[in-house]
Amino acid sequence: MAGTAVPGRLTWRVATLVDAVEETPTARTLVLEVPGWPGHLAGQHVDVRLTAEDGYRAQRSYSLAAPAKGDLVRITVQELADGEVSPYLVRGLSIGDPVELRGPVGGWFVWRPTDPSPVLLVAGGSGVVPLVAMVRARREAGVRTPFRLVYSVRSPGDRLYADELNRPEPGLDISYVYTRTTPEGWPAPPHRIGVPDVNSGGWPAEFEPACFVCGPTGFVEKVADILVALGHDPRRVRTERFGG
Ligand SMILES: Cc1cc2nc3c(=O)[nH]c(=O)nc-3n(C[C@H](O)[C@H](O)[C@H](O)COP(=O)(O)OP(=O)(O)OC[C@H]3O[C@@H](n4cnc5c(N)ncnc54)[C@H](O)[C@@H]3O)c2cc1C
Repeated sequence: MAGTAVPGRLTWRVATLVDAVEETPTARTLVLEVPGWPGHLAGQHVDVRLTAEDGYRAQRSYSLAAPAKGDLVRITVQELADGEVSPYLVRGLSIGDPVELRGPVGGWFVWRPTDPSPVLLVAGGSGVVPLVAMVRARREAGVRTPFRLVYSVRSPGDRLYADELNRPEPGLDISYVYTRTTPEGWPAPPHRIGVPDVNSGGWPAEFEPACFVCGPTGFVEKVADILVALGHDPRRVRTERFGG
């Protein structure tokens, strides 16, 4: 194959926005058509590249939010008010617009439906995106692997995929930690995630769950420390840092 350009996951492809879903007032799911998409695993991400008229380029990573449907992939972008790329993806990109994308990227922070271990997902903010991709992959594969999700979010209105996660699903338990505002009558005041939240919403270490932690860097480091302090084997704790 010497001298031949082999299309691969690190080739930039031109994707087209074909649909969009407002998840919250500041987050949007983009459905992108990517001709020749090779498929991906739950937990993987793509790199998205924008080029301005003057040639200036900006590139950011976004987790794949669901299993692919043919050439259609989904990402969910949380707008950062002072951000360079996310405000454009949430409010600027229109149906039919092109965007450059490459992937799938990442081979460690992935869940395969063939893995029978119980799964603990711990999300901070938009870190829920690749974890819901795992929930969706579980559902699509029709497997009964026990899942628990601990989802830390500022307020009830900031929850991504709220309707979907509100629907009861056998074998999937979800608990919420609110950091700024709680629903009315919520038993705990707003707080940052701590040992009791991970302990009560997670699995005992003896169950040897596969743990996936995703969110802003500080959140991920704190939760990983908590899991290890609770006795989880660090080799079973996989992390993805979104920055911040
Ligand atoms: C592997 C990977 C997967 C990701 N998946 C997603 C995803 O599914 N959805 C999503 O919305 N984002 C995701 N991100 C984050 C995304 O890549 C961008 O960092 C984010 O959209 C901000 O880009 P921006 O250009 O708007 O902000 P920038 O202009 O890059 O940054 C603006 C300010 O916000 C801070 N900042 C950057 N990221 C964060 C953060 N996550 N939390 C708090 N502050 C932050 C910066 O330090 C800076 O001060 C992912 C990141 C990685 C590395």
